[in-house]
Amino acid sequence: MLEAIDLCKIYKPKKGVPVTALNKISLKFPEKGMVFLLGKSGSGKSTLLNLLGGLDKYDSGEIIIKGVSSKNFKQQYFDSYRNTYVGFIFQEYNVLDEFSVGANIALAIELQGRKANDEEINNILKEVDLEGYGDRKPNELSGGQKQRVAIARALVKNPEIIMADEPTGALDSNTGRQVFDTLKKLSRDKLVIIVSHDREFSELYADRIIELADGNVISDVELSENAALVSDEPEKENIVFNDDMVEIAAGYHLTEEDRIAINNYIDTHSTERVSLKLAKKEARSQYFRPTDQSKIKSQDGSTFKLIKSKLPLKSAFKIGASGLKYKKFRLVMTILLSCIAFGLFGLADTFGSYNHVKVCTNSLMDSGVNYLAYAKAVKRGEGMGTWWERGRKIKAEELETMEKDLGMTFTGVFCPTTSYLDISAYYDPDVEMTKTDYDVYATSLSGFTEINNDKLEELNLELAAGKLPDGSKNELAVSDYVYESFKVGGYRPDSETKPVKIETYDDLIGKKIKLDEREYTITGIVNTGLNLERYLPLAEERDYTSTAQRLVDYALYNEFYYAHTYGMASAAMVGEGHVSNLIEHEPKLLASNGSVVFYCSDASDGEIDIWTEYCAELEDIPKDDILWIDGERDTLGEKEIIISPSVMSVYDHNSGIGSSMSSSDEAAAVVKDVRFKMWSWSADSDESIEGNDYRIVGVIKESSIYAKTGVIVVGKEGEVNAIVDRESAGDYDFVVGIMPSSKSEVTDVVSYSYRENSNVRYEIQNGVTYELDAVNDALKIMSKVFLFIGIGFAVFASLMLANFIGTSISHKKQEIGILRAIGSRSNDVFRIFFSESFIIAMINFVLSTLGVFGITTFINSVLRKDIGVLISVLTFGPRQVLLLLVISIAVAAIASFIPVKKIASKKPIDAIRNR
Ligand code: ADP
Ligand code: MG
Repeated sequence: MLEAIDLCKIYKPKKGVPVTALNKISLKFPEKGMVFLLGKSGSGKSTLLNLLGGLDKYDSGEIIIKGVSSKNFKQQYFDSYRNTYVGFIFQEYNVLDEFSVGANIALAIELQGRKANDEEINNILKEVDLEGYGDRKPNELSGGQKQRVAIARALVKNPEIIMADEPTGALDSNTGRQVFDTLKKLSRDKLVIIVSHDREFSELYADRIIELADGNVISDVELSENAALVSDEPEKENIVFNDDMVEIAAGYHLTEEDRIAINNYIDTHSTERVSLKLAKKEARSQYFRPTDQSKIKSQDGSTFKLIKSKLPLKSAFKIGASGLKYKKFRLVMTILLSCIAFGLFGLADTFGSYNHVKVCTNSLMDSGVNYLAYAKAVKRGEGMGTWWERGRKIKAEELETMEKDLGMTFTGVFCPTTSYLDISAYYDPDVEMTKTDYDVYATSLSGFTEINNDKLEELNLELAAGKLPDGSKNELAVSDYVYESFKVGGYRPDSETKPVKIETYDDLIGKKIKLDEREYTITGIVNTGLNLERYLPLAEERDYTSTAQRLVDYALYNEFYYAHTYGMASAAMVGEGHVSNLIEHEPKLLASNGSVVFYCSDASDGEIDIWTEYCAELEDIPKDDILWIDGERDTLGEKEIIISPSVMSVYDHNSGIGSSMSSSDEAAAVVKDVRFKMWSWSADSDESIEGNDYRIVGVIKESSIYAKTGVIVVGKEGEVNAIVDRESAGDYDFVVGIMPSSKSEVTDVVSYSYRENSNVRYEIQNGVTYELDAVNDALKIMSKVFLFIGIGFAVFASLMLANFIGTSISHKKQEIGILRAIGSRSNDVFRIFFSESFIIAMINFVLSTLGVFGITTFINSVLRKDIGVLISVLTFGPRQVLLLLVISIAVAAIASFIPVKKIASKKPIDAIRNR
């Protein structure tokens, strides 16, 4: 069954000399019977038993279990060995106080991988005379009862070996006897090894007595064959009923059963007088002979099979949870700090995961922006310093591409480069439309766009009154927003006429306004859905009490500006074909890509400067529009330029007066024979170019549309290319569609706006994205800061938690030892403490999730409601929840891993002894 060969154990205390507790012990144990390890205190009995039970490690020698050497056993094999074969009973009971009697026993069953049922538990309790005690807590039991619980726990596993270290040491002799009686019964078909220092008891119960002294076996005797019968029922020895006489062993105390037995005896002998005799017990030592170990069979290991323990989660949780009651203050502090840490971390991640597209999408969704406007921007430079130059025109083909890319329809809005579509002159000058500097009412129109019935439907617009304009005529429809503006401002056709009130749609229909030098008749009012109410407070006089309020209004105005400028609200809606017609009559201008200046500081008329934003190509300008200075030509030569007079300014050195030119003739006279220097800078290359000897060979007549906007026509082909942005030529200033309603579509339109992979992109124009672009950089920095603070706090939280688990482990060392003694592995120990920190982690997780959710919601709503911006800056979504969960569990795992690793690597006996 069990064999020790040359077993040595030397204790090496940190201080003092090493103690040889066992010195080459060789013993062979039979499969059944009661073996006592006898000896004085300190002789090595406990050490030997612990080694045999795998609770402690030997220094040399070997233990053979069922024919298998444990030489190469890992600690967990020993754990499983105990779990499978050994029931351990300690002097100090070592039952788990957290668990009821029944649960203590159930745990032992469950560790063997079986399911515990009430019947089995009740049966085993009956066996140790504790029937009905299943629900009691160990602290409600007497010492003897506790020890019997420990025995029951050992028995329920039906182990092949029972090991008991002074099981009766803490009990009075009567209860001690009961324990021995129980063990004796068990030894009929199990190996029972008992450590004792009581020779008398040993001789009374033992089948074999092994006596130790100073770590050596000094005697090893077994009960001789003929005495076996007597010794088999030692309880009979104490009372003997014999011919009218009851003989009682000296020193024996009558039990209740004895009393009943005596009374029964008296009853059956009612006629005679029964006498009592106290008999001195015979010295049983005479029945013992030196043990013949050769009779003990060795096993071949074929029956050796280990059951790996598996502590049920429920039990692990229960033990784990019980740890939370120690150091409540520290627990609360740990949770609080961890929560702050995780909360910060969550916030950091919320900021850190700030995603422009996502935030724009959310903000657009949250704000209910119903229009979608794109304007074109051109990429300038590469890498870090990249910026997007805005306000380029969108070509009709580009609009088609956008429609294809996004699967939506757009309407182009065209604004003449040369004209500002001002309408403020039509309001009654005596009406104060707003009491603030904010133009809440329409002062100008943003551009022309064509509408028809289909377009109205596509854009979700509605003809509120009148009829749609005819494209072949100078007719237009205006938005209800423009109508509201006239309603407030009145209408005055010209400065000579008395203003009229506009009170109904019909009052406005038929009125005329001049845009880009054409007179248009208003034929209809279109409802565009602009929420004017939201912005009207901007027109009211306010007493600002704080800068914040001022900023709030400023932000609101920005939102409004984008909403009406880039929506249909400010558009001049004209009929089909009208916009193309307008575009045809526009000068074909190319915006300069950077800056270009021609100058001459020592001309006879003083200093001449020529500067404009626009260029044009010679072939686009009608021949008759040019006043040639020295002869007409078809192409321009190198360093030859044509200018419109308005781009030129002359600064007179003598008078100190600067003036710009308006007459072409005048300009031509001034620049004749002047040589100009050129300085240009290109945004693409960030390089400046200088040149000399440029000549002006022609001036654009002031009657030409090319004169309206200052323009320079630069000579030889290629020279224009160097300073202009070809992308700037186009038809529309922006395009308008309707904002899709589903989140994924909104994400698509937003992503489209932030493409980086091309030199051209179309940026969403509205207050939301405007605001977001402004806070983008600030958020990027914030997220980093929060991330680092969060990491710092998370580390701190782990340390706190590890410390807490460490403390809790020191409280539970003994429980761990007990669990190990009854066969649970270090894995199970980890389960216990992981469940403890898991509980803490879950509390942390829930609290910090709620916290972060609360804070982000709060910040978002403050930004939205109180400050009035449309941004939902912070997104707290599944990602953050998941992250917090992962962090919480990870921190719990790390925090419990290190201290548990430490305790789990301890030998079980050290844990039990709380060393
Ligand atoms: P017993 O159970 O017979 O009283 P032990 O096996 O407990 O004896 O101890 C045997 C010897 O080993 C004693 O001298 C004891 O002092 C010593 N000893 C036991 N455990 C330790 C320990 N953890 N560290 C140092 N010495 C120990
Ligand atoms: Mg001992």
